[in-house]
Amino acid sequence: MEKRNYKFWFATGSQDLYGDECLSHVAAHSKQIVDELNKSGRLPFEIVWKPTLIDNASIRQTFADANADRECAGVITWMHTFSPAKSWILGLSEFRKPLLHFHTQFNSEIPYDTIDMDFMNENQSAHGDREYGHIVTRMGIERKVIMGHWADTNIQDRIASWMRTAIGVMESSHIRVVRVADNMRNVAVTEGDKVEAQIKFGWEIDAYPVNEIVEYVDAVSEADTKALTDEYYDTYDILLEGRDEKEFREHVAVQAQIEIGFRKFLEEKNYQAIVTHFGDLGGLKQLPGLAIQRLMADGYGFGAEGDWKTAAMVRLMKIMTTGVKDAKGTSFMEDYTYNLIPGKEGILQAHMLEVCPTISEGPIGIKVCPLSMGDREDPARLVFTSKTGPAIATSLVDLGTRFRLIINEVDCKKVEKPMPKLPVATAFWTPRPNLSTGAEAWIYAGGAHHTAFSYDLTTEQMVDWAAAMGIEAVVIDNDTTIRTLRNEMRWNSVAY
Ligand code: MN
Repeated sequence: MEKRNYKFWFATGSQDLYGDECLSHVAAHSKQIVDELNKSGRLPFEIVWKPTLIDNASIRQTFADANADRECAGVITWMHTFSPAKSWILGLSEFRKPLLHFHTQFNSEIPYDTIDMDFMNENQSAHGDREYGHIVTRMGIERKVIMGHWADTNIQDRIASWMRTAIGVMESSHIRVVRVADNMRNVAVTEGDKVEAQIKFGWEIDAYPVNEIVEYVDAVSEADTKALTDEYYDTYDILLEGRDEKEFREHVAVQAQIEIGFRKFLEEKNYQAIVTHFGDLGGLKQLPGLAIQRLMADGYGFGAEGDWKTAAMVRLMKIMTTGVKDAKGTSFMEDYTYNLIPGKEGILQAHMLEVCPTISEGPIGIKVCPLSMGDREDPARLVFTSKTGPAIATSLVDLGTRFRLIINEVDCKKVEKPMPKLPVATAFWTPRPNLSTGAEAWIYAGGAHHTAFSYDLTTEQMVDWAAAMGIEAVVIDNDTTIRTLRNEMRWNSVAY
């Protein structure tokens, strides 16, 4: 799917009080920092050096240019020396993209033997960055502050992580969700204010009668369907489990036809996320299962039963993780059933069908089984178990007066035994800090049963994204206690 060639600008602040020699050092130092950061191989996007900013006019022009440049995903600012912060007011007030305040210093150690007042005046980011930080805080501008030496790999990784958050901010307004089914009747938590979602997140959320997408499915040629079915048979294990081989393949081919038809519809109409509903399938023969799983693996967002908020979040989180080295996957997910045995507590995660195979570990099989709900023929689906390790589960809920993003850190594990009769893909996790506190906190926070789940994003990234969007974030992690969480939400209700 379309990827923009994003870059980040590096703007160094100073002033003309120090003379040309000092300013030439400032420029050389910031150039070297940018070069080294780009050469580190740890940043997912290039940093572009900009000439030192020393007055209102140059600062305002640089931010205006950054706004206008489609490839610029944000500006990284650093005050090498002192830069009187009133100079930044006009530029900052007009700036609309992600802002990182990189509070670093060119040298890492105080040069004890040679340090004099010239050195002090040239290398005073401890001084200048406080002046700059003050005005950003006073203006109430959302930004990220990262402090540390630029050559420190941990600091470089934090910049890399922030860059992905910035991409999430930039790309959010390019997410278009197609609803070929409304919300499931009477369900509350998957509902929400679509106008407010567009104001806050930039999402376009459009409805189509399901049979408009069915026309695209019906128009798929037999040859194309056969070719994709063959690809499925080459890619996945075929788990007949006593079903007739020919009848099984016919069921799988229905999903191939749906995948091709849906993909064409999404591409033609420029949608990056989709919702379906098992009870509203129009002319479709099966609930899209395997088809949706394959689309999700290619980067499309998905939400079941009309859940457009989760569909958009899955899409968003897939964009934020694009190109992550050794990525473990991002998926739509649903809390199903608990294991309450002491020491082995956790939540079994699955959905009727639609779990993204990017999170799988081990073989992926195709099964054809009846759905316990709805009135269509048995759908084909991909079945697998998921990777282990830390991950985050997120739920975006509409509280009527505001959106809240709930972020729970979880530890994914293997279940003790295989589940041979369960015909769906699964994950199993223990929420932090533990199952009972995690689940109680989730319930208090009003979190949904549907989640957007990822191994490849952090709480910090999602909290920063929520802050940039101007919405509340509630974190459930190892520091969570119920008393503090409930108080935090009371305070938040006033703040928002
Ligand atoms: Mn569901």
